[in-house]
Amino acid sequence: MTCNITKTRDGEKLFMCGEEMPQLDVCVDCGYVADILCDYPVGEGLTCDRSLCSGCAVEVAPNLHYCKTHYELWKQFEESGGVKKVLADIVPFRRRS
Ligand SMILES: [Zn+2]
Ligand SMILES: [Zn+2]
Repeated sequence: MTCNITKTRDGEKLFMCGEEMPQLDVCVDCGYVADILCDYPVGEGLTCDRSLCSGCAVEVAPNLHYCKTHYELWKQFEESGGVKKVLADIVPFRRRS
């Protein structure tokens, strides 16, 4: 039997045991358990998909998270006024007013 120990963000230990261990995503920034993927569009219908924990992901809109690198990019985009032009066609990005 394979066992795997992962730490959650609170320092709590998480034991994963079993023959078929679920693939546990780990935050690319801090190594804790990840439950969020970066939704930053990278073209051709794909998103960045870096695994992030809730502490490292930046929520830019409800259910839309970016990794820190992409959040910085997005911020620059938005500040330059280019965000509407460039991302207006990407469905998840549309904000509900
Ligand atoms: Zn993290
Ligand atoms: Zn990203």
